[in-house]
Amino acid sequence: MIGVARPYSETMGYVYRLSFVYALIIIVAGVIAALGITGYTSKLVKHLDKLKDFMGSMASGHLDEDLDQSVLDREDEVGDMGRCALFVRGSLKKLVERDPLTNLNNRRSGNIKIEQIRRAARKYGQIYSIAMGDIDFFKKVNDTYGHNAGDAVLSFVANALRTSIRGGDGAYRWGGEEFILILPGASLEVAGNVAERIRKRIEGSVINFEGTDIHITMSFGCAALSADLSAEENIKVADERLYRAKETGRNRVITE
Ligand code: GH3
Ligand code: MG
Ligand code: MG
Repeated sequence: MIGVARPYSETMGYVYRLSFVYALIIIVAGVIAALGITGYTSKLVKHLDKLKDFMGSMASGHLDEDLDQSVLDREDEVGDMGRCALFVRGSLKKLVERDPLTNLNNRRSGNIKIEQIRRAARKYGQIYSIAMGDIDFFKKVNDTYGHNAGDAVLSFVANALRTSIRGGDGAYRWGGEEFILILPGASLEVAGNVAERIRKRIEGSVINFEGTDIHITMSFGCAALSADLSAEENIKVADERLYRAKETGRNRVITE
């Protein structure tokens, strides 16, 4: 048998070169992996930070802050947490701002809305008015037909208000059988016309509750709001006019 062998030095040179290439490949792959992991981790930390800030603002009652879109664009668990947090915000907003019986926005959100409009009114000189409405002799409805019938009447009125106003306007349940319409851009005259239209609609309606027909009327006090007065002071003007509508016979709209 004849054995053919390379010289020792040539073989070792070949081994060294091969080792060097392997070592280089491992180092380059390591650097690429390290850069990739660093980039991924810093992005992850940034998105977790954004999520934490969003949760923090929710916890302190700011339910209008938005979660950064880059978090929602993620398709992993962090993105899932972001979508979940947005869902929780939606439910919280509903709980805090809506009246569960009528599904209208409540007094708290009405006050926030008036503050927002006041700021816009100061900045851009926009006018706005409110109409405060109260069901006449509502206690009698409860006493005569029962509390559930009273609730049905409240829902009916809420729906009448909601469907009698334009897109940018808002209807709010202010308390028991008291409602407020917030009408951005409306003069006192327009607010009076809106209230009168609703008053007539309510007066002409029959509310059927479990086979019994119920008739009601409503009184309104309207006011053009001033950006220089607080939300409460502005509402007081409408409230005083509503009081006068009651004093002077009910089922009417007072604008001055
Ligand atoms: P006025 O014409 O002066 O406004 O008289 P009123 O009877 O409408 O007013 P009053 O303040 O005397 O009575 C309001 C009633 O509204 C008393 C309260 O029990 C009732 N009420 C308040 N909230 C609700 C509710 O959510 N459901 C029902 N069914 N009744 C309610
Ligand atoms: Mg009443
Ligand atoms: Mg009342």
